[in-house]
Amino acid sequence: MAFPYKIKQTIKFYCKDKINSALFFDELYKHIEKYDIFDKKIEKINEKKYLKFSSKNSIVKFLYHVEISVDITDYVKIEYTIIIIELFKIILLIIVIIAFFSRFSFDKFLIFSFIFTLLFYLINLIYITNQIKNIIKSSDIYKKLNPNDEDELSKEQVEWMNNPNICSACGTQINDFDKKCPDCGLYIDRKIKTIIFDKTKYKDVDLHYKFIKKKK
Ligand SMILES: [Zn+2]
Repeated sequence: MAFPYKIKQTIKFYCKDKINSALFFDELYKHIEKYDIFDKKIEKINEKKYLKFSSKNSIVKFLYHVEISVDITDYVKIEYTIIIIELFKIILLIIVIIAFFSRFSFDKFLIFSFIFTLLFYLINLIYITNQIKNIIKSSDIYKKLNPNDEDELSKEQVEWMNNPNICSACGTQINDFDKKCPDCGLYIDRKIKTIIFDKTKYKDVDLHYKFIKKKK
């Protein structure tokens, strides 16, 4: 069983304001610089800029490397790769120490090592990836372009959400009087409009009025 030592994650969101990816990158760099990081540098590989740095922002304070790149088309795509080779050295060291000082039988030791490696690896991985994600998301440029922190929403969905005449969940046309989406049933949170009924328009219809006492 091989544990991945390199983890690549993506933050992607649709942005209606068009922004230059170089500008976004520079803003992100300025933001990340404020954190306690080491060996920060910008590398250009195939016309694409990578922000590289090392951090100790983890549970057991080991050093790991991070690479961040930004791509902007219709979507803003921030890719971050975390390289955690150091974590395996720490796991190995802990297992060796336990092998020397514990009184486990060999079978039990193998089971223990396996469970320990898996848990320690996963907990650290989740912690680190969240740290990096939070650092990116706490930048002013991210908050400005994605104020509601809507990850992984499609272009269509963002357009639906910004259009009051369309259901934001399924894209069905809704009118001013709908309380619920006629297609998916999503409750529409807005004041229901009332109109003054113009009976001159319906001359051939025999209209009767019935007064209903309003419930308090
Ligand atoms: Zn709907």
